Amino acid sequence: MKLDVDALRYLSKEDFRVLTAVEMGMRNHEIVPAELVDRIAGLKHGGTFKVLKNLLKHKLVHHDSSKYDGYRLTYLGYDFLAIKALVNRGVFASVGRQIGVGKESDIFEVATEDGTVLAMKLHRLGRTSFRAVKSKRDYLLHRRSYNWLYLSRLAALKEYAFMKALGEHGFPVPSAVDYNRHCVVMSLVQGYPLVQVKQLENPGDAFETIIGLVVRLAEHGLIHCDFNEFNIMIDDNENLTMIDFPQMVSVSHRNAQMYFDRDIECIFKFFQKRFHLSLQDDRVEHGDVGSDVEDDGRPSFSSIEKSAGSLDKELAASGFTRRNQEEIEKVHF
Ligand code: ADP
Ligand code: MG
Repeated sequence: MKLDVDALRYLSKEDFRVLTAVEMGMRNHEIVPAELVDRIAGLKHGGTFKVLKNLLKHKLVHHDSSKYDGYRLTYLGYDFLAIKALVNRGVFASVGRQIGVGKESDIFEVATEDGTVLAMKLHRLGRTSFRAVKSKRDYLLHRRSYNWLYLSRLAALKEYAFMKALGEHGFPVPSAVDYNRHCVVMSLVQGYPLVQVKQLENPGDAFETIIGLVVRLAEHGLIHCDFNEFNIMIDDNENLTMIDFPQMVSVSHRNAQMYFDRDIECIFKFFQKRFHLSLQDDRVEHGDVGSDVEDDGRPSFSSIEKSAGSLDKELAASGFTRRNQEEIEKVHF
């Protein structure tokens, strides 16, 4: 999706007031009745209705009159609210080009006042899994606030909390700068996703480091669950950075072993196929990946699990609650 932020400059205080009113109405309504928007915004002389027309023109809201005259935010409208909040807070001053389209996100470069370039990830939960989300609605229906805004916001909160905690524990992750709504701001990683790399000077070293990361994560109590060549960045000096954390789970998750083995398997398969690394590689056989290994050379989850740390529990205390985790798992798994 194109993010035309030029419109940001043309939007007035009233425009944002009404946009925020639509957002507030969405806590209880999938489509917010126009009168309710008007009541929340509290503009004089029917001003709300004129503003809504303007917002509609800029595609910041969607008009729906199938049941009653109402509006909902579009992704773009939600993007603008988050961007505006972050700009007001001085986190960045301008939005640049799009650098990534993930399964459930859009990533842009942003620049601070002093010209530092950062990365901004806009979560779009429900873009691909909307059907899955719908079928799980029964569970979520009792939460009247449930909708894609809420889920995208949860994903951003989780990503920010995990990125921060992992960074503090010495994991190679982007540094977490700030977040608002469904938007996470982080340092810009130099390099490319591993999937784009055709040749490596030391594939064995990279392999070892990556498997070591999966093991060390588990030792801290966490499993990435989407650890693959798309979510590992590598630079020209073959330094690695891991990204993309909204689907992480605790080692005490009922399917933890399966997720752990799957992450490991992805890495083994990729290095075998792309760099022709032999699974009988000495380093793997002799356990230099930093843990016990099974007969097939894979690190053993059960031996790690026993002594796992409690980063998962620390995170539950950081504002991203257990209940939030359950809600987000309904979408991802
Ligand atoms: P998704 O959850 O949608 O897969 P990712 O976090 O994996 O989103 O990001 C998608 C792509 O955007 C990545 O593969 C990468 O190319 C780019 N990207 C994400 N974060 C950064 C960052 N901090 N710096 C540079 N590029 C990034
Ligand atoms: Mg990804």
